[in-house]
Amino acid sequence: VAPQRWHVHASRLPAGGEASDLWVDAAGRLSSGPVAGAEDLPGRFVLPGLVDAHAHLTLDMSGTGLRRGSRQLVDANLVAHLRVGVLLVRDAGAVPGARVGGDRAGRPAVVAAGRWLAPAGGYLPDVIEPVPAEGLVAAALAELAASDGWVKVVADFPTSDRLAGEAPPHYDPDLLRAVVGAVHAAGGRVAAHTTGPAVADAVAAGVDSVEHGVSLDEGLLAEMAARGTAWVPTLTTVAMLLGLESRAGTEAERARAAEADARLRELLPAAARLGVTVLAGTDICPHGSVPQEVGYLVRYGLEPAAALAAATTSARAFLGRPALEAGAPADLVTYDADPREHPEVLRRPAAVVLGGRRVV
Ligand SMILES: [Zn+2]
Repeated sequence: VAPQRWHVHASRLPAGGEASDLWVDAAGRLSSGPVAGAEDLPGRFVLPGLVDAHAHLTLDMSGTGLRRGSRQLVDANLVAHLRVGVLLVRDAGAVPGARVGGDRAGRPAVVAAGRWLAPAGGYLPDVIEPVPAEGLVAAALAELAASDGWVKVVADFPTSDRLAGEAPPHYDPDLLRAVVGAVHAAGGRVAAHTTGPAVADAVAAGVDSVEHGVSLDEGLLAEMAARGTAWVPTLTTVAMLLGLESRAGTEAERARAAEADARLRELLPAAARLGVTVLAGTDICPHGSVPQEVGYLVRYGLEPAAALAAATTSARAFLGRPALEAGAPADLVTYDADPREHPEVLRRPAAVVLGGRRVV
């Protein structure tokens, strides 16, 4: 395949400002100095490749009809991410036995967290092999050995099909602490699914990211900021599961849903103020929904630049990947209009470059 060289003249987001120049050399690396023979890339605004920090590549969220956990489904889902410029995906829970991690040519990079670790009845029943309390540490270390440095623990799960329902803790606080200690000692990190009060145990145990976190409060956010714990609020999914528009559920459930919604609208700006790393994750939305999630992050109170950072620079830094730095692999996305003013432009990139090759 012939090498490609690109010249990008664009305002660098999320910060923005005057347009500046960036080049992509024939080795697929970014350069701050001119590259001979470079072609102009379309677009007036540029972001580092987008990141979906919470997706499930082994599940068919987009109605492809492909078999759950199959290689074909994972690939189709990665293509859906690629089309909107998502070039890095953290898989936050896979069906047992499926391996989704690693790099594939021409596809977004994947950071896999292995299978969901949850007790019997403690998650969607058809996607887990239950992990009883006494087996949790060993299961976590086994997943870590086969994943990309992450383990996913389901700390609680709603007992009804309503997200605003009760979600009692699955494992006791000492066990959560033991799991986090063991995974950290082995060089890994822990993502914790939680919608109920177990979020306090998860934060105290030292998990590295809180997934959903519908029951967070400002005190816990302050603790997360101090510890460097990230929050992946998965707002598009949460808003859908709270059923705010459908007005489904009992009166008590609707009241709890409205209360959770109001709390999230206070927590997002508080997280930004306190310095918590907030990341964009699409969870059970169709693959390639990061643009919608960025829109939700703005709607719930993040500044547009912070919402873009949640899907790019903050996520890359958190996952240990470079952004638009000289010498880094050329993973970037350009737009004709400013996504800070119009988040919907994220749905239609002017160009997507993965490892130096233009794919959109
Ligand atoms: Zn999830």
